[in-house]
Amino acid sequence: MTDQDYINLINGSYLIAAVLFIVGLMLLRTPATARTGNRLSALAMLIAAGVTLVDRNILEFEFIIGGVLLGAVIGVVLARTVQMTAMPQMVAIFNAFGGGASALLAGSEFIRLADRGDVPEDAGATIMLGTAIGAITLTGSLVAAGKLTGWVTQNPIVFPLRNVVSGLLGVVIIAIGVFLVFEPINNEIMFAVLVGVALLLGVLLVTPIGGADMPVVVALFNSYSGLAGAAAGFALDNNILIIAGALVGASGLILTRIMTRAMNRSLVNVMFGGFGASGVEVSGVDGEVRPYSSVQAQDAAMMLGYANSVIFVPGYGLAVAQAQHELRTLADLLQARGVEVKYAIHPVAGRMPGHMNVLLAEADVPYDQLYDLDQINRDFDQTDVAVVVGANDVVNPAARDREGSPIYGMPILNVDHAQSVIVLKRSMASGFAGIDNDLFYLDRTSMLFGDAKSSVGSLVSEIEDL
Ligand code: NDP
Repeated sequence: MTDQDYINLINGSYLIAAVLFIVGLMLLRTPATARTGNRLSALAMLIAAGVTLVDRNILEFEFIIGGVLLGAVIGVVLARTVQMTAMPQMVAIFNAFGGGASALLAGSEFIRLADRGDVPEDAGATIMLGTAIGAITLTGSLVAAGKLTGWVTQNPIVFPLRNVVSGLLGVVIIAIGVFLVFEPINNEIMFAVLVGVALLLGVLLVTPIGGADMPVVVALFNSYSGLAGAAAGFALDNNILIIAGALVGASGLILTRIMTRAMNRSLVNVMFGGFGASGVEVSGVDGEVRPYSSVQAQDAAMMLGYANSVIFVPGYGLAVAQAQHELRTLADLLQARGVEVKYAIHPVAGRMPGHMNVLLAEADVPYDQLYDLDQINRDFDQTDVAVVVGANDVVNPAARDREGSPIYGMPILNVDHAQSVIVLKRSMASGFAGIDNDLFYLDRTSMLFGDAKSSVGSLVSEIEDL
């Protein structure tokens, strides 16, 4: 094989990997094709990493095979053991590794070039970017994972002038980075300082944010890890790393935007102070005590069993209760009785993007019964019964009607437009936003108290007896 043939082979492999990344990403758009998309992207990563390791003579073949096998074992164990509710922290740890790997790559390239006595300015600039963003992503994501698992306090850790301190650290990083671009030789200590300050900044950026806002932070760091990878790709002159990094950077940013928009928050509000603290108090409306109606499973089952149309609205409580399989059974029973059944999916229901889709997919709910907010909101007007299963904020009419509410402006599912509403939850407690829900006090609303799994289970038994 001539040198040119070899170069063509490497570039051809990178091209195939790039196409697989893009197709994989496109397939992730709907639950029906997401698994295939995931597999294609993983294959692309295998090709990209394998070809790079062989091409650059970085590792012997046996080590590559060993690495693939070890990675596969770890992947299978994690996929089988990590709970669905623990996915956000798992993604946070992935992001930390991605950021850390990019910082290490950029750092080792800096040391290699500096040892050689020649760090071109363009390579130096991308090395500094990759190192700084990668190091911030590493510690920021680890703190985010710690908050999500509860190893780090979920409450915002705030101190006076924290934003000023973070701003100053940012300025120090930029100053050292610019200095090192022009004076890279014999300045390894300055480089170590830059890494140290970036690691510290990652911690300081995330500690003031409440635990419940972490999924947005994780999406943002996902984007950062991509940017760090792309910068490292420029430093190493590796096209596939640039492409993959850019795709991750862009998709992470789009996801962050979708989440903040669906929560009616700005990114600045999430990052620099909002209501993401856990343990927020339930704030009743003007402190008044309002009457509500509760219902027993038997009566709720009558309403459902004799309805023409039912829309299920799942929320975070469905995930906590792990009631998806029971819900599917209930839906099947109703359909067998001729009831039209749909599921309404709010983009930020639960605690991570796509949370409800994943849960319902686990229970093999047919994808064509799942409807996004825009698709279903008008249907509530013609629906007999809307059943809210552990959702709260995403069905709170205050977001639509009550100016001054913390969630005013957040798009919601118009559950209150249905003829009757049954709400399955354990108490009158608030959800993530910590505010009371006007829906619970409507005449047409009946509260079915209890853990969602046992409540849905009781509905199933009652409907079987109808
Ligand atoms: P909420 O957090 O508003 O409400 C969940 C409700 O579930 C609670 O009121 C709780 O009431 C109930 N619940 C908890 N456990 C159970 C159980 N075992 N059985 C029955 N009910 C239970 O959830 P939503 O899904 O409506 O809204 C999501 C919120 O999270 C939004 O405010 C969104 O902005 C935010 N968020 C979403 C992210 C995402 O990516 N999806 C990321 C970050 C934040 P009770 O205790 O009385 O049972």
